[in-house]
Amino acid sequence: MTRHDDEIDEGPTPEDVARFDSVTRTCPGCKEEVYDDTAVCWQCGRALDAEGDAKTPMWIYVAATIAMAAIVIIIIF
Ligand SMILES: [Zn+2]
Repeated sequence: MTRHDDEIDEGPTPEDVARFDSVTRTCPGCKEEVYDDTAVCWQCGRALDAEGDAKTPMWIYVAATIAMAAIVIIIIF
């Protein structure tokens, strides 16, 4: 069985290297460099995974919990 030349995997192409090498990306909102796996920009809070899965970032739950606790404390005192 023979393979076509374009099917031989000689290793990572320059495109693959660039893809795996770029662990950071530029935030479309504030142009700040953020990590590629970051769901929300630490600089401006913009959701970076807007396209595709719309999973809720963990910090929203933390912020909501803190806000609820703060409201309860304000009501009590
Ligand atoms: Zn940003």
